[in-house]
Amino acid sequence: MSDTITIKKPFDSHVHLRRGAMLRAVTPITAEKFCSAIVMPNTDPPIETCEQAAEYKKEILGALPRGVSFEPLMTLYLTKNLTPVDIEKGAAGDVCEIHAVKSYPYGATTNSQWGYRSILEAKDVLKKMEEVGMPLLLHGEVHVDENEHEVDAYEGEKRFIEDVLPRLLEQYPNLKISLEHLSTKIAAEFLEKNGKADKLVATVTPHHLLYAREDVESKPLLRCKPLIKSAADRDKVRELVAEGLPFISAGTDSAPHPESKKFASPAAFGVFNSPVAVELYTQVFDEMNALDKLEGFLSVNGPRFFGVEVSTETITLVKKDWQVTEPVTTDEGINIWPIGDVKHGLGNETVHWQIKQ
Ligand SMILES: [Zn+2]
Repeated sequence: MSDTITIKKPFDSHVHLRRGAMLRAVTPITAEKFCSAIVMPNTDPPIETCEQAAEYKKEILGALPRGVSFEPLMTLYLTKNLTPVDIEKGAAGDVCEIHAVKSYPYGATTNSQWGYRSILEAKDVLKKMEEVGMPLLLHGEVHVDENEHEVDAYEGEKRFIEDVLPRLLEQYPNLKISLEHLSTKIAAEFLEKNGKADKLVATVTPHHLLYAREDVESKPLLRCKPLIKSAADRDKVRELVAEGLPFISAGTDSAPHPESKKFASPAAFGVFNSPVAVELYTQVFDEMNALDKLEGFLSVNGPRFFGVEVSTETITLVKKDWQVTEPVTTDEGINIWPIGDVKHGLGNETVHWQIKQ
């Protein structure tokens, strides 16, 4: 068993960088650990035009420390305002190259109130995306069903996999789809059976690999959407990533909130994990004796799906215990607590891998 591993610099297929002081605090952390990332558009207001994406990209680049190279890959939010013209413009990249469109079901998570009730309603936009090869990123949960009944939050992903995804795949056979933050056994099995590297892929977070439903009770730092499911669900998702399939990649879903919102009741949805994500993924792969599959998952499969270069830089991780003891503080003095913090996490947590400086 190896105590050190060198891999190409990771790629984050799903991150929230927010705006303003929060963005300035968290962007350097993601940029230090990842070569590039797919940046989520659910800011307030949402990113739904190429012009807004260009301005947002500029803000992210402006927050990078001197000499750090990091490529934010921009996305648009699938609101009812988005048109096929926006898709064409984003694919052409004259104003800002758009790498994907993100769909949030109405009411699902932070700033998701602008989405369609069902992705299947977005016909013209989906057709255009299929035509130009623009990937669709799915928050794959059903929250309100066709009869206007609220779906149990633990059942939302299952309902999406059973009721919505097969129809979407059938109606748009050439649409590139990424199922984000996989959290259930049924979703993992669906991917195992139907996943294809250039067509149907999925991302997995560190927290859905590490924790189970019973761990989350009264732990606000772990409160997120999709909810963390049962131990059986987690174990199946772990099994999926350990298989080293070319269509499964790391998407941290790192989603910072100020402590005032995270320690409120109820706590805001979102896990801030960028300070420990690469280390925790490595820990999980080590636990499963699958370190030989780590580089594909962290650094190769994501960029391949989005058609961008795999990093030429490398990072080295060593097996060495450490703990997260400090929050990240913005330049406005607001604390953001990362998952794994010894006081506010699960309690005295130890991370077993470290990035070698
Ligand atoms: Zn997210």
